Amino acid sequence: MKTIKELDPTSIETFQGKLRGKIVMPEDAAYNDTRKVYNAMIDKHPGMFVMCVDVADVIAAVNFGRENDLLVAVRGGGHNGGGLGLCNEGLVIDLSGIKFIRVDTSDNTVRVGGGNLWGEVDHATHPFGLVVPAGIISTTGVGGLTLGGGVGYLSKKYGLTIDNLLEADMVLADGSFVTVNAKQHKDLFWAIRGGGGNFGIVTSFKFQAHPVSTVIGGPTLWPIEKTEEIMEWYHNFIHEVPDDLNGFIATMIIPGAPFPEHLHNKQFCGIVWCYTGEASKFEELFAPVRAKNPLFEHVGEMPYPAIQTLFDGLMPPGLQWYWRADFFNELGEEVRAAHLKYGSKIPTPLSQMHLYPITGAASRVGNEDTPWAYRDAKYAGVIVGVDPNPENAAKITDWCKSYWEALHPYSSGGAYSNFMMDEGQDRIKASYKHNYNRLVEIKQKYDPNNLFKVNQNIKPVSQYA
Ligand SMILES: Cc1cc2nc3c(=O)[nH]c(=O)nc-3n(C[C@H](O)[C@H](O)[C@H](O)COP(=O)(O)OP(=O)(O)OC[C@H]3O[C@@H](n4cnc5c(N)ncnc54)[C@H](O)[C@@H]3O)c2cc1C
Repeated sequence: MKTIKELDPTSIETFQGKLRGKIVMPEDAAYNDTRKVYNAMIDKHPGMFVMCVDVADVIAAVNFGRENDLLVAVRGGGHNGGGLGLCNEGLVIDLSGIKFIRVDTSDNTVRVGGGNLWGEVDHATHPFGLVVPAGIISTTGVGGLTLGGGVGYLSKKYGLTIDNLLEADMVLADGSFVTVNAKQHKDLFWAIRGGGGNFGIVTSFKFQAHPVSTVIGGPTLWPIEKTEEIMEWYHNFIHEVPDDLNGFIATMIIPGAPFPEHLHNKQFCGIVWCYTGEASKFEELFAPVRAKNPLFEHVGEMPYPAIQTLFDGLMPPGLQWYWRADFFNELGEEVRAAHLKYGSKIPTPLSQMHLYPITGAASRVGNEDTPWAYRDAKYAGVIVGVDPNPENAAKITDWCKSYWEALHPYSSGGAYSNFMMDEGQDRIKASYKHNYNRLVEIKQKYDPNNLFKVNQNIKPVSQYA
């Protein structure tokens, strides 16, 4: 494998001539800003960025990377916790210039560019009273979130993001361009619904959208001492209550405004709710929550884009992040006790733990229908150590690892790939479980030399020999 520095400068000039987008090199003034990603703990130094503006740029970049035997990374929204949108010394194919959104109200479908962010999609679909199910932060990239699965408020009602993916345009490792859907390249269409960026670069997604304009949502909080009681109750409640009402449970600190002052800098067990049904039925469905006497409730009607941006202000780009994750089937006594123990020791105001329910529509898809192998798990859990100050990096990492180590023995074995750091091949195998071998076969067919390896990597068969 070569580095960019080893290339003949004329080959770089020739390459630039084939592009409409720019290239950014380490000596360029824009380089240091260009190499920033959402997680400031990531400090990688690519040899070259190709800032693609169209499919032709992506094809040229893939061919350049392959022909010159370069390490290739692909960046969508740049949100990946482990910094998998970047690499050291190699080529980064940046998709942030490939943005377009077209809402088709004849069949409620939405076409989205490979470099769009979710907030841009919400902005475009909201005037039509439509949504595409995504995550809970609007600055996340459509590309990485979708290709890994996509868990959020609407997973219970409308499934994971991949369950709403109808079609994708892709540039493959050999530079060819294909459209994949339920009829064309069915194997690839299966693989990209959870298998990440392993199989090619998606330049356009087509999603099924759903009629949601406003939701009733927001947080309820209980003192951290009540964690065990609330988790036990929540486990029984959230999988029984109709699909219209969803909510993820968390251990967290209230860092400051807009919350009232008496809550600041204290640890809580919280649930963030999102209800998509008829407003007249909400009070009755929500009554059991209020019967648990939350210390604080801030639940009300809001436009869908408002709930999607609720936490954007608290979680701007440029913070230090360390992630650990697992799926869970149960919230048994030992698990609840561990949440209380480590939830009480949250080290910095933005660090937190979330458990996203895998229930309703998301759980009605078969374990082999997509690579997402844990449809029967009850929760996708994630612990995140977060802080603006790099000096606290060790503190948030240690807390996150200890919390995870206490819970891992009670987990289902694997984790949601989009919540993983760079954790090695055994973790990847555990996360795709029975679907792993099928992914390996498809990888061998479409990317036998593993050009797309900067991801939760499915190695082709040839690389096991
Ligand atoms: C603050 C925050 C909140 C989050 N909330 C949620 C949530 O609610 N639900 C959820 O499911 N996930 C959530 N995530 C996780 C998120 O899904 C992953 O971090 C995801 O990888 C981000 O995608 P990206 O395009 O922004 O990332 P990038 O870093 O750009 O890319 C991540 C991976 O995807 C690949 N990739 C990206 N775009 C393409 C493309 N078009 N074609 C081929 N490969 C591509 C990259 O090569 C890389 O391997 C959150 C992350 C953060 C930081």
